[in-house]
Amino acid sequence: MKDTAVLRPDLDAVRRTVASPIVTRFAPSPTGFLHLGHVVNAIYVWGLARATGGRVLVRIEDHDRIRSRQTFDAALLEDLQWLGFLEPDETDSIIRQRERTGVYEAALTRLRAVAHVYACDCSRTSFHGERYPGRCRNRGLTEGPGRGIRVQLEPGVDAADDLLLGAIQQAPAEQCGDLLLKDRDGHWTYQFAVAVDDLHQRVTLVIRGADLLSSTGRQVRLGQLLKRCGVADGPWPPRYLHHPLVMDEGGVKLSKSTGATGVRHLRATDVTPGEVIGRAAAAIGLLDSVRSVEARDVRSLFEIGPRGV
Ligand code: GLU
Repeated sequence: MKDTAVLRPDLDAVRRTVASPIVTRFAPSPTGFLHLGHVVNAIYVWGLARATGGRVLVRIEDHDRIRSRQTFDAALLEDLQWLGFLEPDETDSIIRQRERTGVYEAALTRLRAVAHVYACDCSRTSFHGERYPGRCRNRGLTEGPGRGIRVQLEPGVDAADDLLLGAIQQAPAEQCGDLLLKDRDGHWTYQFAVAVDDLHQRVTLVIRGADLLSSTGRQVRLGQLLKRCGVADGPWPPRYLHHPLVMDEGGVKLSKSTGATGVRHLRATDVTPGEVIGRAAAAIGLLDSVRSVEARDVRSLFEIGPRGV
């Protein structure tokens, strides 16, 4: 069994250190069906929100219009309802990034007042997908089709607090160079859309898988710039919690909802929603062995004691 210290945050510390009201979010990308990795995230999001009197927002991250599909969007929500996390009357408050172009445009306009925002025609392959070297920073290209938009990042360390991992210190300018906000196909990037939305929605607790840890410094920095130019006045940065990932048999992070890890697949067998949740919890060590846990009871996985595990 894994050390529970790295799986369960101290609930008192969450209540004490996360800005009130506690607002967290479940933010899937509709690029595939729901799998056990999403279920683990839902356990943390709804479990910790309920254990601390917080609120959950659901946000469909369909900023990538090429990979996102309406069928996955509908299926993700339907599976989430089947599991019991999402109530049918909660679906009206869900936001979708593809409907927020006006919000991102407005944020970009404001950002120009506090940072150097510029057009860039470099492809990722031209710098081998590594740190962007700033080739277009001073070229004065006009913005338009086939050109992305970047913001210049000043060197420096951004700090954030992770409720499981402790202090996070990242240097986004050194790590990735000037950040891409819109890609050459005209799509808003994940980093920009997430920073705008988390700030706008006054998210105070970001709960997500550890694979996104390296994005945190970039989002903290972007949020600071966005706040400085008045995009929103929410608390910033939020607190973070990066939880372990569910791995497949080969030790690789689940990214496909195939076979035994896909909720769709499991639904077609005899398993109950509670068993799927129990299976996800056991996959990362929140349970010693698989047992049924109802969605309404997931807070118990974080409450050690008579009512908990
Ligand atoms: N949309 C992202 C995903 O499905 C999650 C982003 C986040 O939580 O910041 O992996």
